[in-house]
Amino acid sequence: MRRPLIAGNWKMYKTSAEAVDFVRQLAPLVNGVNDRDIMIAPAFPALEAAAAALKSTAIALGAQDLFWEAEGAFTGQVAPRMLAACGCRYVIIGHSERRQYFGETDETVRRKLQAAVQVGLIPVMCVGETEKEREAGQTFPILDKQLQNGLKGLIADDLASLVIAYEPVWAIGTGKTATADQAQEAHRFIRSQVAQLLGFPLADATRILYGGSVKPENIAELMAMADIDGALVGGASLKPDSFSRIVKFS
Ligand code: PEP
Repeated sequence: MRRPLIAGNWKMYKTSAEAVDFVRQLAPLVNGVNDRDIMIAPAFPALEAAAAALKSTAIALGAQDLFWEAEGAFTGQVAPRMLAACGCRYVIIGHSERRQYFGETDETVRRKLQAAVQVGLIPVMCVGETEKEREAGQTFPILDKQLQNGLKGLIADDLASLVIAYEPVWAIGTGKTATADQAQEAHRFIRSQVAQLLGFPLADATRILYGGSVKPENIAELMAMADIDGALVGGASLKPDSFSRIVKFS
């Protein structure tokens, strides 16, 4: 039985003070929710303050990216162990905005995944097709390529905590949500590919989140699908009220 995970990707929003304020408002709203995991991923400068504010809550902290080297002359980068030391449990890897604007490739995703698991961070590996790719009937080949190349050389033992986020690029921040059936079809395909690459037990244990304009109004329908194990939420994770209503889907 996979434990649901609702994760908030705050992107480039919220200072430390705003993050702390958010946590103070969110914590009582989700107090007592203990049958699912909750994670928020603030920007790097807000991680330490958020970690301190989250201390007596069951909400976990995540980062939005990392670099694969342990340390060195890599101006502007953040090492995996720095995130772990800040109190992060999760790290988002290969988000489509990083692929689109910052040159992230399947190869950099692979290196980041490897580096994350080495320090015990739970990787949230993002995959998903663009609108053009979907229209060209390329959704499955694209997902297959992202998974094959992103997971190349990794073994099931290293990936026991793996989380995958299926985020169709055309649904991110656009208000367009994949239908629950479209999302389920992609999630089932992703699970079958993970089984081929890393074996059935790992595929069965891997949580696959849906991301793309998730809101309080559509979360229940998505979560009713057999292979949807949670959500990676952008816009609607920025307000305690909407995020808590997503967390408390039933
Ligand atoms: C995201 O940033 O991962 C995302 C899914 O954004 P939104 O929920 O705003 O579409």
